[in-house]
Amino acid sequence: MRTPRPVHKAVYSHVYPEKAPDPVLLAISTPACEKLELNPVDIKADRQKEEEFVSIFSGNKILPDTRPWSLNYAGHQFGFFAGQLGDGRAVSLFETMNSKGESWEVQLKGAGRTPYSRFGDGYAVLRSSIREFLMSEHMNALGVPTTRALALIATSREVIREDGPRGLEPERGAVVTRMAPSWLRFGNFELFYSRDDMDNVRRLADYASENVVKDEAKGSGNKYTRLFRNVTKRTAEMVAEWQAIGFNHGVMNTDNMSVLGLTMDYGPFQIMDYYDTNYVCNHSDDIGRYAFQRQPSVCLFNLVKLAVPLFELIGAEGEVDQLVFPDKDNETKEGVTDEETLTKYRQNGKEIVQQLLNEEFKDYFMEHYVEKMRQKLGLKDSVASETDFKDVIVPLLAWMTDYHVDYHRFYRSLSNYRITAEGEEVDGDRAIGEWIDIVTELGENTEACANALKPWLSIYRHRLLKERSDDKERKQRMDAVNPRFVLRNFIVDRVIESFDNDDEHGKECLEACLEACIHPYRDHYEDQRVEEWINAAVPAEDYRCSCSS
Ligand code: AMP
Ligand code: MG
Repeated sequence: MRTPRPVHKAVYSHVYPEKAPDPVLLAISTPACEKLELNPVDIKADRQKEEEFVSIFSGNKILPDTRPWSLNYAGHQFGFFAGQLGDGRAVSLFETMNSKGESWEVQLKGAGRTPYSRFGDGYAVLRSSIREFLMSEHMNALGVPTTRALALIATSREVIREDGPRGLEPERGAVVTRMAPSWLRFGNFELFYSRDDMDNVRRLADYASENVVKDEAKGSGNKYTRLFRNVTKRTAEMVAEWQAIGFNHGVMNTDNMSVLGLTMDYGPFQIMDYYDTNYVCNHSDDIGRYAFQRQPSVCLFNLVKLAVPLFELIGAEGEVDQLVFPDKDNETKEGVTDEETLTKYRQNGKEIVQQLLNEEFKDYFMEHYVEKMRQKLGLKDSVASETDFKDVIVPLLAWMTDYHVDYHRFYRSLSNYRITAEGEEVDGDRAIGEWIDIVTELGENTEACANALKPWLSIYRHRLLKERSDDKERKQRMDAVNPRFVLRNFIVDRVIESFDNDDEHGKECLEACLEACIHPYRDHYEDQRVEEWINAAVPAEDYRCSCSS
């Protein structure tokens, strides 16, 4: 069942999770539970229920009438086609529908080897599992489309990783329960295409457009063009969210690109502390292929890789029902479309895709990004000005880049900026002075930084006056979209370290952090640890995870 092998003509393989030794429940996400209509309070209050929960989501108990599986996909990794990859350490347990009709595919990560494990062990270590668990739920709370995390369970399994914090010393294993409406990726299409298995490309595209990306059909083209347009829109909006909140994914390979435009595969990700367009969170990305500012263009590259398998289907336009792909394994197949027509479709598909990406991707991206940035700046849509991007956003980001400004503290404190009815700053210089100390790294260069901000503040003030912005009301709006708590790398590290001594201490710390992750906009947190994290000086260097820990 677990022998690594090429799997042909199949989009998944059935495989059972390995038995997890000594599973311990470390955390449950309440908002994720709600999606499945489970009650975490009930579960934790009743020993039997908790045991049942743990045995299901550690992979030790398979529910009746379910048969777990792992997906088969390929992908372009760092620019190159890597052949079959697949879920090497993810096993989907079941798909379930809640009373709202939302369907969720629930999956374990780190539950052992599958036919797609290649050289890997199929496990995950506790530290990377904590990172994925917390960040999935945090991103959701920040309004970013993402896969979700339901639970985190530690095991007594000893796992060895080359990038371990203590060298090759074994680390503790863990299993994260993740969920998404679908785990379909660009790479699923690339796999069949790479094997010239076009009938399955088509079946997968039919499945995706009927069951996964069920968005309303917009614009021209046949069903495959509409599918591709919908994926393009979702991808552009996802990356616009990343750029607006300062998220660097780290491994934007096509096997990590969801057709639903969900942020997926939390490996070496990071929410940046200080604004830096060249930021690269992935230590093994030597040339900065997935640097922060390159993320939108990487999405375009990835969308092209998704489009290639669909060229004929898209290019056949209204004739797609008559299109029959040749099959090298079945030479007697009837009604096969001739080579010349296929070439014509292919060429036409290429042109349609090129035009669609050229004309639409940037619009979807910009519209979403500017809107999100406007909200962060407290600018109302009703008087949306065409020039906000050029006149307000770009110069602000340039200033942030020059002075290494804390991207999150800046917006949160900007909501305190006040102007009088006559349009003058209230206590301007003093406010700016205090503020600059908060938002720049270690107080260096503060005077120059404050002076450099003044021209921008003047632009901002005039922009606010133009829409007759009310200070109090604007502050409310801004504080509801600019997080006070941000899951910074050093905070995750503190949570990870808190498990060094005993689980009780770790669980408390994790719980406090999770609570802040899912309520990032609060003015105050009961837990003193959270307040300390928020007010701490952010360390310049911190420990980062690599792709596959
Ligand atoms: P990632 O960079 O995490 O997206 O992983 C790329 C590929 O490697 C995917 O097919 C993963 O399933 C696989 N993989 C990563 N880590 C492991 C592991 N420990 N065991 C088996 N497969 C793995
Ligand atoms: Mg992956």
